Amino acid sequence: MPDSPPIVFGNWKMNGRRTDAQALVQAILHGCGQPTTGTLGICPPATLLASAAEWLTESSIKLGGQDCAAEASGAFTGDISAPMLRDAGCGFTLVGHSERRHGHGESDALVKAKAEAAFEAGLNVVLCIGETEAEWDAGQTIQVLDRQLEQSLPAGVVADNLIIAYEPVWAIGTGKTPSMDDIANTHAHLKSKLASLSAVGGDLPILYGGSVKAANAGEILAIDHVDGALVGGASLKADEFLAIFQAGLEAKAG
Ligand code: PEP
Repeated sequence: MPDSPPIVFGNWKMNGRRTDAQALVQAILHGCGQPTTGTLGICPPATLLASAAEWLTESSIKLGGQDCAAEASGAFTGDISAPMLRDAGCGFTLVGHSERRHGHGESDALVKAKAEAAFEAGLNVVLCIGETEAEWDAGQTIQVLDRQLEQSLPAGVVADNLIIAYEPVWAIGTGKTPSMDDIANTHAHLKSKLASLSAVGGDLPILYGGSVKAANAGEILAIDHVDGALVGGASLKADEFLAIFQAGLEAKAG
């Protein structure tokens, strides 16, 4: 039986200026036309969001932030709030990306507060979780993911406002991925863990992220309970990003 069509989001991280970003968005739009099935989205840096919203006018491609503050406004120099993301044209935001958790010391409690602030502002959330290489090597992956879910799952989850992204920290930007069996086992575990934590938990999509590229996307996106991909580096090249989405469409069509 065919699975639900894939969700593929591109995280541009701290990359892109107006000229090259507009060319990238245009190349994505040109390459995919209007996706009529599946969900495609991009998360440019904050400086480009308002422009990207204009470039994407009348497109079904979704626009997201890479992070948001836990507060709605105030004396938080350098931070960007969820209402500001919404005002710039975003429909969703990432929270808890490993580069925030580990690069900026964000705790599970803070990630949870950010996700709740995003809901409050009417944004959907992609909640990122993942173990470090040391935790992976020590066989602690499930324990770490369970803790992250227990402590950062926001209140107010309904079936269509939250997506989980499982991203092993050691797979992000390294070219390394877990084996397909490992991804399958981890996603199966996450599915049942989410069902135990929330009435709608079993229905939440779970993306895989970490060195997804055109060459491995078909295999990864064919795995049960892998509902899509969060793509970093490969989302900066339109042909590569679209090839991942296409591989997902084919994998999910069965
Ligand atoms: C990411 O930043 O979320 C990510 C998965 O990066 P990459 O695809 O480059 O590993």
